[in-house]
Amino acid sequence: MGAGPLINLHSHTRYSDGDFTVEQLVAAADHGGVTHLAITDHFETSKVYSLRAAQFDEYLEEIHEAAKRHPGVRVLAGVEIDTDPSRCDLEALPIELLNRLDIVLFEYVDDNGSTLETLEPLLSQLRPLRGLAHMDIARIYAGTMPSEVASRFRDFGMFVEANAAWPYRRDGVPFYELASRYYEAFRGRVRVSVGGDVHHSLEAVYELERPYRFMRSVGLTDDLLFRP
Ligand SMILES: [Zn+2]
Repeated sequence: MGAGPLINLHSHTRYSDGDFTVEQLVAAADHGGVTHLAITDHFETSKVYSLRAAQFDEYLEEIHEAAKRHPGVRVLAGVEIDTDPSRCDLEALPIELLNRLDIVLFEYVDDNGSTLETLEPLLSQLRPLRGLAHMDIARIYAGTMPSEVASRFRDFGMFVEANAAWPYRRDGVPFYELASRYYEAFRGRVRVSVGGDVHHSLEAVYELERPYRFMRSVGLTDDLLFRP
């Protein structure tokens, strides 16, 4: 894929609903030339099998050990938060544990989960990078100007992902491609990332050509997290 960072900031292990260990994912990143891999297991949600607060030390230790074995990969420790309050008790989330992470992803925001306004008390206490996972932007904000959406994400300090996984498509087209005019409005205002949302395939760790091609096509290369 050429020089410069190759990032994948969304992956799941056996600590939640993924098939592989942390070490297997980091080794795949190393093999595939991924420079930054975030391990982002589901955390404390009833929707899927998920990481629990009691496992947090073990989880971080495993991530740090895998990072040591693969010095060519910057491994970020993260989680993915389900913002549907019927499945995840957002007010009971352990802030002090989350603040030991590098990155926190939020799913179903402004959709069937919580709004950014509802999440603000939580967001305001979090130090890690925080991002919006697999958002169907074109559908959710169909009546909203792209520049307004960009302002909204910027004001709440959220980065936005281009998610490469198959569920986040309509008629085979990824949600991010359907929302290209919104992504164009993010230029210089909202940071963006690429996420493989790895669960069941090690190739998904490093097969990121399509979202990277998209980022180039909408002029967002300089707005990617961990740019050169
Ligand atoms: Zn995910």
